Amino acid sequence: MNTTVRVRFAPSPTGHLHIGGARTALFNWLFARHHKGTFILRIEDTDTTRSTDEYIGAIIEGMKWLKLDWEEGPYRQTARFDVYRSYVDRLLQEGKAYYCYCTPEELEQRRQEALSQGKTPKYDGRCRLLKEPVPGKPAAVRFKMPQEGRTVLNDLVKGVIEFENNLLEDMVIMRSDGSPTYNFVVVVDDIDMKITHIIRGDDHVNNTPKQIHIYEAFGWTPPEFGHLPMILGADKARLSKRHGATSVMAYKDMGYLPDALVNYLVRLGWSYGDQEVFTRQELIQRFSLESVGKSAAVFNPEKLLWLNGQYMSNSDPKDLAELVIPFLEKEGIITDGRQLDREWLSRAVASLKERSRTLVELAHSLRYYILEYVDIDPKAREKFLKPDNIRILSELHEKLAGLPDFTAGEIEKIFVSIAESRSVKLGNVAQPARVAITGTTASPGMFEVMEIAGKEKILKRLSKVISGG
Ligand code: GLU
Repeated sequence: MNTTVRVRFAPSPTGHLHIGGARTALFNWLFARHHKGTFILRIEDTDTTRSTDEYIGAIIEGMKWLKLDWEEGPYRQTARFDVYRSYVDRLLQEGKAYYCYCTPEELEQRRQEALSQGKTPKYDGRCRLLKEPVPGKPAAVRFKMPQEGRTVLNDLVKGVIEFENNLLEDMVIMRSDGSPTYNFVVVVDDIDMKITHIIRGDDHVNNTPKQIHIYEAFGWTPPEFGHLPMILGADKARLSKRHGATSVMAYKDMGYLPDALVNYLVRLGWSYGDQEVFTRQELIQRFSLESVGKSAAVFNPEKLLWLNGQYMSNSDPKDLAELVIPFLEKEGIITDGRQLDREWLSRAVASLKERSRTLVELAHSLRYYILEYVDIDPKAREKFLKPDNIRILSELHEKLAGLPDFTAGEIEKIFVSIAESRSVKLGNVAQPARVAITGTTASPGMFEVMEIAGKEKILKRLSKVISGG
């Protein structure tokens, strides 16, 4: 590619950053990074009734959490009305746009007439014919759309799409109150910001022919377009809240890792053989629009959970230890993470990371390393804490109490000696101990768990169970 790639993510701040928006942002980011180009963040907030500063903040927060950094912006369209005005003036001067004095009531009446005659409503172009501006009358500005021929879009994802120009109308580019309209400002910004490739959702395909004509009116070669297929839920309906969380930050709160979500999002449409797990560096090297599929992608929360588990397993325990602290606080397992010994926590995390699919699951399991007592699952209690087992646990308690070195190796020897002297399997000692100590029937190896949790807590928990608590 001989020109420097410049791409943008252009969200409308009418909601949080959601899965679909994040995928669009990611594809633009990867494309920019792959081509060593520039990634621009542009906030499309001209719809002032629905845009809020809070959502702008939330979108930026989501981008930062996903580590999608940008070189330019955030630009805000509401801060650029002077630019749009000057572009409108240029079209007016060149006779490529005209003032329209039709009132909303007149337009509505003509629309109804067309509908009653079974026609598709379309502005009839009557103000095109006016020779002079009408002073003192409110006027919108309309763009002179070509009415003949076809517009060909050679989409980088979808291939060739053709549009009949006579279906397009002279669209309003500036309302009578001086505010510019959506399809116009998008083009002005993309010209002004020298965007080379527009990568966006395919809900914008039908805007594209209109936009192409505006580029041409300014004598500007339109950028390349790549329209990304929709994201659907499992029932093949457009992804929505019904299908589970759609906001990116909700995944943060549910204990997902940003790299795992990025890896998941990239596979919603893009593929590289049958590889599922990619480092960011690999994604940057391999990403291309040619490998984006044409058909809709299906959002699969189970696969995302699986992928997150892969990332948890492969993470450095030290990093996970830092990340899990807010979750420990939220679960009420600790009150102040600053007091936790990081090295100790990393060891505890290392024992659990392969069996935790999210940071929430990890925090939940860490309770039996951190709390003094844990709740015991009633079913596990019934099955594994019968009188016979309690007798074993008493012996275990006594022997552990006398153990000077509370290490996994020494603890194991005690388990083995108890099992041998009673001619039972090791599991007959370990499983009741597991239930008494972790409150559950599944955990990492008991000797390690006990060493990490520490002698004091272990003896307390065993005593409690032995005394019927
Ligand atoms: N603001 C538009 C949206 O959020 C994107 C427009 C574009 O990418 O051209 O859907």
